[in-house]
Amino acid sequence: MSVRVRYAPSPTGLQHIGGVRTALFNYFYAKSMGGSFILRVEDTDQERYSDESLQDLYDTFEWLGIQWDEGPDVGGDYGPYIQSERFELYQKYAAQLVEAGKAYPCYCTAERLDEMRAEQAKDKKGHQGYDRHCRDLSPDERTALDAKGLKSVIRFKIPLEGTTIFHDEVLGDVKRKNRDISPDPILLKSDGFPTYHLANIVDDHLMEITHIMRAQEWLPSGSLHVLLYQAFGWEPPKYCHLPMVMGKDGQKLSKRHGSTSLLDFRKEGYLPEALINYVSMIGWSYDDSREFFTKEELEKLFTLDKLNKAPGVFDYKKLIWFDGQYIRQKDDAELKALLIPYLIADGIVSDIPTAEELAIFDGAYPIIKERMKVLSEVSGLVRFLFKDIESYQPELAVPKKLDPLTAYKCLQVAREILTGFEGRSDEDNEEAFRKGAEDMQVNMGAVLQPVRVALTGTTVSPPLFESIRLLGVEKTLKRVDRLLEAIFTTYGPESE
Ligand code: GLU
Ligand code: ZN
Repeated sequence: MSVRVRYAPSPTGLQHIGGVRTALFNYFYAKSMGGSFILRVEDTDQERYSDESLQDLYDTFEWLGIQWDEGPDVGGDYGPYIQSERFELYQKYAAQLVEAGKAYPCYCTAERLDEMRAEQAKDKKGHQGYDRHCRDLSPDERTALDAKGLKSVIRFKIPLEGTTIFHDEVLGDVKRKNRDISPDPILLKSDGFPTYHLANIVDDHLMEITHIMRAQEWLPSGSLHVLLYQAFGWEPPKYCHLPMVMGKDGQKLSKRHGSTSLLDFRKEGYLPEALINYVSMIGWSYDDSREFFTKEELEKLFTLDKLNKAPGVFDYKKLIWFDGQYIRQKDDAELKALLIPYLIADGIVSDIPTAEELAIFDGAYPIIKERMKVLSEVSGLVRFLFKDIESYQPELAVPKKLDPLTAYKCLQVAREILTGFEGRSDEDNEEAFRKGAEDMQVNMGAVLQPVRVALTGTTVSPPLFESIRLLGVEKTLKRVDRLLEAIFTTYGPESE
């Protein structure tokens, strides 16, 4: 039987690292097994549903370049692939379980359930959860309640005795006493909407899903789902609960750790290749050493036996480093095409960049390609070539250990050296600055750093000599003069 796996997100929020990892593992498993990857939208929670979340789902996977074989937009033989379009089915299957005596209508009102919970809260050691009040109503009692027009939900009869065991491909046998499973969960709400449990297993069955790969937080649902399969007389799929995704502090990854939505990573300018590669290494490893994989390689190499039991750690620093590596491998024309929209959005170049702007950018491109870690850094790196410095912060040009007067003099020395900059080789310029620093009895940074500040208005720039050459000595000198003036204005006679 060929492998059929699914990603079954609920469109109640933005796609995040954990969800995308689940999707990728399902996708890679399908590809490596020559099977099918299915997208099913689980939109039964109408209160938390949002159109933006659904759109974000499509946008994220389009951006990642991940396609499903069957799904709401591409169709397939097992559709519809959106649960809200399958409602009658769930009602039919719930009725089937009631008929077989494996589920039952519950007429408890919200008030009764509130009272029950309040009582239970007083005795934490006693029974918790639904008290099975309606489980043993006789057919006549039910008919009477229906005749009164009372609303009901359908609850699943969890066996009172026994243990449910299922095999998980990652975790081994998972055993749970039936009495520890949440008592008689709701399958169908009073408005006819299914709950997650019913819709999820009905669809997995009807869509002939062979393997359930999902986050480990769904593990407790596993036992309940297996009982549901048994109640229907269906064969459960294979289970494979994926290792948790943690932050570096060992806590479950969440917004506290930083961005987790793919939208944020997209905006910051991460490359999809880098994200796919890095996210696939959380909880899965090919061997002890290899870290770099293209999507195409993972489509061939992914196997379940290389999933880890232990949680995986999402390390923001490692991801950004990965991204830098991918940027450097990128084809130049492609990378430029990705960078220019950032320059436009940040107002560095015109909406339709002029030939002159493009020429300046081309000049800077080789050195920034070597330094960039995420695409959005580009504007900060090249801004000084396009824009004058609006105002200087003179304190940036006065290193902590120096007094303003010495700092001012160092910049004057640097200015002198810069006048002959163009006629010298890099080595000779280096030597000139070294000698200038020696004469001033300061380290070389004290002479070079203010030049960097003059050039860019900040303490960071692409390599300094390259930056001077790109801007031109004439403009550099003008900026040095403005900075000298700014230091003088701020620190006054102290600096003269
Ligand atoms: N709709 C569930 C979710 O949002 C699916 C869980 C599962 O894969 O069974 O994650
Ligand atoms: Zn009840």
